[in-house]
Amino acid sequence: MPQYPGAERAERSLPIPQQASSLSQPSRLALRGPAPNSIHLATARRPRRRRHSKGLSASRMRRPGSGPRFPRQWPVILGNTTLQTRDTQQRADLASHVPVERLWSLRPRVKSLLIKTMNPQIHAIDFNQRPFLAIWEVTQACDLACVHCRAAAQPLRHPLELTTDEGKNLIDQIASLDVPVFVLTGGDPIKRPDLFELIEHARNVGVRVSLTPSATPLLTRQIVFRLKQAGLARLAVSLDGACARTHDAFRGMSGSFQRTLNAVSWANEAGLPVQINTTFSRRNLSELDEIAARVENLRITLWSVFFLVPTGRGKLDDLLSADQFEQVFARIYQLSKTASFDIKTTEAQHYRRYILQQRVAERKAGITADSAPEKMADSLGRAPRGLNDGKGFLFISHTGEVYPSGFLPLTAGNIRHKPLASIYRHSPLFHSLRDPAQLTGKCGHCEFKEICGGSRARAYALTGDPMAEEPCCSYIPKGYVAPPPAIRAADTLHVLQGA
Ligand code: SF4
Repeated sequence: MPQYPGAERAERSLPIPQQASSLSQPSRLALRGPAPNSIHLATARRPRRRRHSKGLSASRMRRPGSGPRFPRQWPVILGNTTLQTRDTQQRADLASHVPVERLWSLRPRVKSLLIKTMNPQIHAIDFNQRPFLAIWEVTQACDLACVHCRAAAQPLRHPLELTTDEGKNLIDQIASLDVPVFVLTGGDPIKRPDLFELIEHARNVGVRVSLTPSATPLLTRQIVFRLKQAGLARLAVSLDGACARTHDAFRGMSGSFQRTLNAVSWANEAGLPVQINTTFSRRNLSELDEIAARVENLRITLWSVFFLVPTGRGKLDDLLSADQFEQVFARIYQLSKTASFDIKTTEAQHYRRYILQQRVAERKAGITADSAPEKMADSLGRAPRGLNDGKGFLFISHTGEVYPSGFLPLTAGNIRHKPLASIYRHSPLFHSLRDPAQLTGKCGHCEFKEICGGSRARAYALTGDPMAEEPCCSYIPKGYVAPPPAIRAADTLHVLQGA
């Protein structure tokens, strides 16, 4: 039975993504009724449109079965996100910016916008069922003393760390959840003697693993080659300064800068894809251009740009202002057009808003926007849009606590007592974080909230409310006038539990 106007003329049908069952009210209105079980794309004939139509209006649509009547504007579904936009070019921009599992539009001319990515696994991700990215903090032990360390790491391993068997069990759960990206982090993961055994186990059960070792004397050429041999998919090392003086000061150990460069070159030699992680704060913002230039000269797959969250050893005084965020966005956006590697941001969800705004501005200025195609060489793929703390993302601590992010110290349960899937799918905390309707402040009023939503970790760190507005976003949604939330004193900031 046709479930929307004109469905009886459809030539082909596609299964509807699960998330379509949670269409926003306007989208449901557009579909005239409950979300269907399948979506039919009308490809046989261009549907008739009422002359001088002023766009989407439920009252102007015919009832199902009374003949084809497509509105000018149908919802576009991008992963977990449903968007309403009348601008054809903007719809194309939305599609080209981030690889998505499926772009669906009932407008016939958009039927060719079915987006594919290098990693087929991310096509079908429903963030309510499984995360795109899971990070396991295998240990908090580390010989560095980074000024911004989320984990407030220390030299010795915690006696209650997950054991080897518990770690393998966790990896098995990651495998059964079919999580596309799994990262072993620390502290310094190399401090765990069973690290290679864990990586081999992951490879044997089909989990692709990335690793973020610390650049200490433990990270040798031999270790890099052993990691490659064990089945590591990607090595991620940190570069927080353009030169040894600033980077080593950041990391609290002299020689760390050179070790990072050595690790990159050893990984290149071993054929191991490399990711560079850079955390921007007030300490290194003045080196933005030099760091970008330095990264450009490395042979890497991905530059992951982190933005400080004042948790762990991260200080409120080092937090960038909203304008400084925009400054970094502008630089990495320009670089993304020419770089041979991909660029992603962490804890700066509003970079997605920035990109869309730039695309619109460029189009108005007659500039053809580069779509920054995916450049990854190791098939780990980009995250689907809309990813946020607890929404397609989770973090397991060294003692098994499950957090929405390593920067958001609210635990939803422990894998020693509950399966990971159950915690991710059913905990009230994760449920709230996946529901944009629960966002407050300007994020709750923002037209970008479905694809952005702001950093939940930073909102929590500065206000104590994980659903509060992003404190470091300069965008004011149209018609929004409420004042920003009060900033908590630095001594009341939360520190990651278990640190
Ligand atoms: S106001 Fe919030 S949702 Fe809107 S762009 Fe800024 S951070 Fe994102």
